[in-house]
Amino acid sequence: MKFADLGLSDELLQAVTAKGYDTPTPIQAQAIPSVLMMRDLIAIAQTGTGKTASFVLPMIDILAHGRRRAMMPRSLILEPTRELAAQVAENFEQYGKNHDLKMALLIGGVQMGDQVKALNEGVDVLIATPGRLMDLFERGKILLTGCDLLVIDEADRMLDMGFIPDIETICSKLPAQRQTLLFSATMPPPIKKLADKFLSNPKYIEV
Ligand code: AMP
Repeated sequence: MKFADLGLSDELLQAVTAKGYDTPTPIQAQAIPSVLMMRDLIAIAQTGTGKTASFVLPMIDILAHGRRRAMMPRSLILEPTRELAAQVAENFEQYGKNHDLKMALLIGGVQMGDQVKALNEGVDVLIATPGRLMDLFERGKILLTGCDLLVIDEADRMLDMGFIPDIETICSKLPAQRQTLLFSATMPPPIKKLADKFLSNPKYIEV
């Protein structure tokens, strides 16, 4: 399997080549075509398997067309920690360098002013930790009604950190008609329950 066989755009393939990758990892080979077909996804994968690119790459192509609106991010990626959120942002910057995509990072420990400013300018990809996102949502600084692509990354770590109630609240604010991708290293019962409630006919991948 080659990157060129997965259905990604030529611009994106150039960015992948520039990064020095020639072969997709197993999770990338299975996830990318399915995400591009707008299916929901449950992927059981550890860090180190290439799972970040398996959602970042197809998201860049999905988001390549469409309009940004103030306060209404077009997609949302939830991460359990600031460090992971920053890593995903870095991936977007590298792979998305040939695209006009605006990204914002909503993490704790950073002044809210710049985050609010970025949201007001319109965002294609919002990368957030649940606590800071809830905080800005409750202050009325963000609307989730235009966000029809959701990634829940490291779901089992979210569970360990007590974020599941926040994630349920966030999911309930998003449009019902959306694409949802869930990544987890393990599938404990509360995560299975979350997936049953918020995903629709997902493709299931285990690597
Ligand atoms: P991740 O599982 O997303 O944390 O990725 C683990 C590491 O694998 C990262 O350092 C990536 O840059 C690298 N990586 C991701 N996809 C590929 C690929 N197709 N070929 C080689 N390395 C990759």
